Amino acid sequence: APKSAASYVEALLASYPDFPKPDILFRDLNPVFADAVAFRAIIDDLADQHRGRFDAVAGIEARGFLLAAAVGYAANVAVLAVRKGGKLPGTVLTEEYELEYGSARLELEIGQLPAGSRVLILDDVLATGGTIAATSRLIDRAGYTLTGVGVVLELTDLHGRERLGTTAVHAIMSI
Ligand code: AMP
Repeated sequence: APKSAASYVEALLASYPDFPKPDILFRDLNPVFADAVAFRAIIDDLADQHRGRFDAVAGIEARGFLLAAAVGYAANVAVLAVRKGGKLPGTVLTEEYELEYGSARLELEIGQLPAGSRVLILDDVLATGGTIAATSRLIDRAGYTLTGVGVVLELTDLHGRERLGTTAVHAIMSI
C-alpha cells in the first residue's frame, strides 16, 4: 500500500530542544519538504482534505507559502499571501496578536478575490493557534468565507484547535 502523508512526516520530522530560545522544542519540517516523495504526499493530502470546497488557499509567511503555492497549483485555485506586518503595499487589513514574548502583526491586501470566496488557510505547524486565529480574522474581514485550516503538524499540548472554535482543522500529524 502507498505510504500515508503522516508516515512521511513522522519519519522525517526533526526536533530541536531550546531553539530558537530556551524551553521551546522546535519542530523542523524542512526534511519533509526536502524529500520529493514526502512533499508530494503532504501536498496531495492537504489538497484532498477539503477538495471542491475552496476557491483559494491562504499561506502564512513564511513556511505556509511553500504549502499554499503547491496546494493552490494542485487544486487549481487562487493563492493568497498573508504577510508579516509592513511588507504589503496598498490597502491592507492588519491583525495584531500576542506571542509568548511581545506581539506580532499579520496583513492581507484587500480586494484580491470576489466577495464570499471560500478560503483554506495553510501553515506548517499549529501551536497556540494565535497565528491562524489572526489569519482567520483577516479572511473574515476581507469578506471571504473560511472553509477550514490545514497544517502539517499540530502540537496538541498547546490546545490551538480549541482557540479556533468550530473551524474545521485538518492536521496531517498530531503530537
Ligand atoms: P502559534 O503559536 O500557533 O501562533 O504558532 C506561531 C508560529 O510559529 C506558527 O507559524 C508555527 O509555524 C510556528 N511555531 C510555533 N511553535 C513551533 C514549534 N514548536 N516548532 C516549529 N514552529 C513553531
